Amino acid sequence: MAVPFRRTSKTKKRMRRSHYNISAPGMVTCPKCGEMILSHRVCPNCGNYNGKQVVEKKEEK
Ligand SMILES: [Zn+2]
Repeated sequence: MAVPFRRTSKTKKRMRRSHYNISAPGMVTCPKCGEMILSHRVCPNCGNYNGKQVVEKKEEK
């Protein structure tokens, strides 16, 4: 294994790690209710998919 000639600086290390936790993968905002949902799935909050109501909305508890 190669030994690095220069140690990675604190700034470089932190700049690289700033991208590590930028967002959850495949998450989009529901166009109807604005909830964060998985893309290409029916919204669990309002039952909307591709601009249509495909699942009956759950009753409020
Ligand atoms: Zn929704």
